[in-house]
Amino acid sequence: MHLTFLGTSAANAYPEPFCACEHCHQARALGGRSLRKRSAMLINHDLLIDLGPDILASANQHRISLTQVRFCLQTHAHADHLDLSHLQSRSPAFGVVGTPVLDFFASETTLHQADAIYRTFLAHEPLLTPATETALRVRFHAVEPMHPFKAGPYRIIPFPTNHAPGALLFAIEDGVHTLFYATDSTSWEEAIWEGFHRFALQFDVVILDHTYGPNQPPGEDHLSANHVITYAHRLAEEGRLRDGAHILATHIAHEGNPPHPQLVTFAAQHGYEIAFDGLQISL
Ligand SMILES: [Zn+2]
Ligand SMILES: [Zn+2]
Ligand SMILES: [Zn+2]
Repeated sequence: MHLTFLGTSAANAYPEPFCACEHCHQARALGGRSLRKRSAMLINHDLLIDLGPDILASANQHRISLTQVRFCLQTHAHADHLDLSHLQSRSPAFGVVGTPVLDFFASETTLHQADAIYRTFLAHEPLLTPATETALRVRFHAVEPMHPFKAGPYRIIPFPTNHAPGALLFAIEDGVHTLFYATDSTSWEEAIWEGFHRFALQFDVVILDHTYGPNQPPGEDHLSANHVITYAHRLAEEGRLRDGAHILATHIAHEGNPPHPQLVTFAAQHGYEIAFDGLQISL
């Protein structure tokens, strides 16, 4: 399994271009890994997590082609994770050559929210119809928490989160390695831990929401550094981590998180790693 982080910031980029805070000043001066686009990731060359607003800019910056993307797992419909104009711009109507049909998986709620966005702002016609699927070369699939499904070579298990109606976290297995992708989650409900047990999951990589930083009180809609530390310990205690497993933080906001070098130092003291845009990991 080959992982590429296309973006690692929270809803506003890091630095937030409109922000004059110390972290944003420092990040602009440092550049490099301290510059974050909004969160999305690519698995191998064919599985995208989130049709995010920055995936085109990120793919071009890191010289990554998305021509082989066959599957998209959509966590939820918030604007920092879903830009439906990508479905239009990758379609034959925009002169794009050779795009495979995209199997797009999301909760029923997220699909209906996407339909409303598409009708209102993009095309003035419904999204979830066979005609639109044909025109956009996409197939929409509603998936439910705790109901595993197959996507090509992958077995996917969606997990629930109270972050937003219909929001999902995903466990992804390719038959050899297992990943858990958990941006945009509130404090985990016990059902998540029970699901790890029920499906006998052991992870090679766990990617966690780190919206709120060290010493910052957690908000109600996202995880914080303290959550990541606590969950990393519990994952280890419950035997959910394979030898050499990576715990990586993503969805990093500017308010409470220092620029990349300082955040890396903090995380290393607590046994986890900080993702950055363009980071690639081969398992
Ligand atoms: Zn988000
Ligand atoms: Zn700032
Ligand atoms: Zn969100």
